[in-house]
Amino acid sequence: RHGGDDGGGTPRTTPEIRYTKLFINGRFVDAASGTYVAVLRASSPGKTFETRDPRTGDVIARVAEGDKEDVDLAVKAAREAFDHGEWPRMSGSERGRVMAKYAEVVERHADELAALESLDAGKPLAAARAVDVGECVGILRYFAGAADKIHGETLKMSRQLQGYTLREPLGVAGLIVPWNFPAIMFFSKVSPALAAGCTVVVKPAEQTPLSALFLAHLSKQAGVPDGVINVVTGFGPTAGAAISSHMDVDVVAFTGSTEVGRLIMEASAKSNLKPVALELGGKSPFIVFDDADLDKAVELAIGGNFFNKGEACVAGSRVFVQEGIYDRFEQKLADTMKSWVVGDPFDPRVNQGPQVDKAQYERVLGYIEQGKAEGATVLTGGKPCGKKGYYIEPTIFTNVKDDMVIAREEIFGPVMCLMKFKTVEEAIERANGTRYGLAAGLVTRDIDVANRMARSIRAGVVWVNCYFAMDRSCPFGGRKMSGFGKDDSMHALDKFLAVKSVVTPVHGSPW
Ligand code: ADP
Repeated sequence: RHGGDDGGGTPRTTPEIRYTKLFINGRFVDAASGTYVAVLRASSPGKTFETRDPRTGDVIARVAEGDKEDVDLAVKAAREAFDHGEWPRMSGSERGRVMAKYAEVVERHADELAALESLDAGKPLAAARAVDVGECVGILRYFAGAADKIHGETLKMSRQLQGYTLREPLGVAGLIVPWNFPAIMFFSKVSPALAAGCTVVVKPAEQTPLSALFLAHLSKQAGVPDGVINVVTGFGPTAGAAISSHMDVDVVAFTGSTEVGRLIMEASAKSNLKPVALELGGKSPFIVFDDADLDKAVELAIGGNFFNKGEACVAGSRVFVQEGIYDRFEQKLADTMKSWVVGDPFDPRVNQGPQVDKAQYERVLGYIEQGKAEGATVLTGGKPCGKKGYYIEPTIFTNVKDDMVIAREEIFGPVMCLMKFKTVEEAIERANGTRYGLAAGLVTRDIDVANRMARSIRAGVVWVNCYFAMDRSCPFGGRKMSGFGKDDSMHALDKFLAVKSVVTPVHGSPW
């Protein structure tokens, strides 16, 4: 069902777009690239690119297009702030205090941030306000509290020696983030980096640059010192690659596609061997057993596939349903989807907004056509909707085989593959039959089945009788081709810290 007015109406809450320039060393500046012309002609600003409204495809704003030169300037500012500034030298609790203030400032601007996120990324406003902004503040508070809980060990090494370990900030962190949860991703990388004492250069996705610039502005209000947070908007192969191959960036944390994750690792290998943490794609299984609570299973499957229009790395896009409950599950799923509303994300009745941009829209539609061509059956959806913008009907395929492209590749859109299975052994084998290992979900009342599945599935998280149950206190990140390194929890700090051993002879030893 397509609600609203073809998805093209004016939003009820139009956020003002105030920040469109690069944020370097505490100031908003034009892109250096292009200023050569500016010098000659005095008036022309640096290069810019367009960010578009996914409801219509219209331009929202032109944003500074950073490139290598700008990344150099941002890294220089971050380097200076790290090598000579106060941030890494403050006590953890002092850093925590600034971060807690930052959380407070973000919370005060919750409505504006949510509206920016809805406008740029096409998320229902209520979800952006409750989930995205709520999580941003939560993550920041969690790591504000973590900043003074970073400590090493003491070692009694031998009769003659004792030692201790220091956990020191690695230095300048390059943080490259995607467009599906722009503000959450900003904070899930920035917060642990700041808590650890690093300084950062953030590269938001070119599809959704606005919230990161707004958050940079708020960081200044909160008293984060200049140079500690720098934001370079721009494209992946230029600005992103300049970060991952930079000789003076000490660590890169990335969330995005597996293909780009590979490029980032390669760039590190070819430059200064900076450590990288990669949170990549997935094709997660969601497994419903015969004894499941049917209503709950259907609701979780829908949320797991269509929340955020399927633009979620943890989407439970391979839904395996045991044969005894399969027919009832399929029927209930199709019935429930009748009340699902696709439309303008600023309309409070809407469940699902537009895909983030034209490229993603076309990519997802391409997969849907491929699914049809491969012989899968369309249970619901199967086509675009709305007269303009990037809206796609939530699509459920049945008669899907494990080796079909739609069952193997990450679609990153509102497309669910429904499959039937018989035994627990079969469920384990098919759930693990993927290159990815990000998340998994299961619905059962049988504790033995739940425990066995939880231990057998190779994934970063297994959700039992829930899905998408994420929290900053719970480690998040995959294995296999879903990457390595954790976001959230105290583990997230590890990637920004180096362990140093200090050894000293004990008094009276021959050393
Ligand atoms: P998607 O394919 O879902 O758009 P990407 O992995 O391409 O996701 O994008 C995630 C982030 O990685 C974005 O900020 C993007 O600009 C950046 N990026 C894309 N290509 C590169 C690259 N070659 N090097 C570094 N960053 C990149």
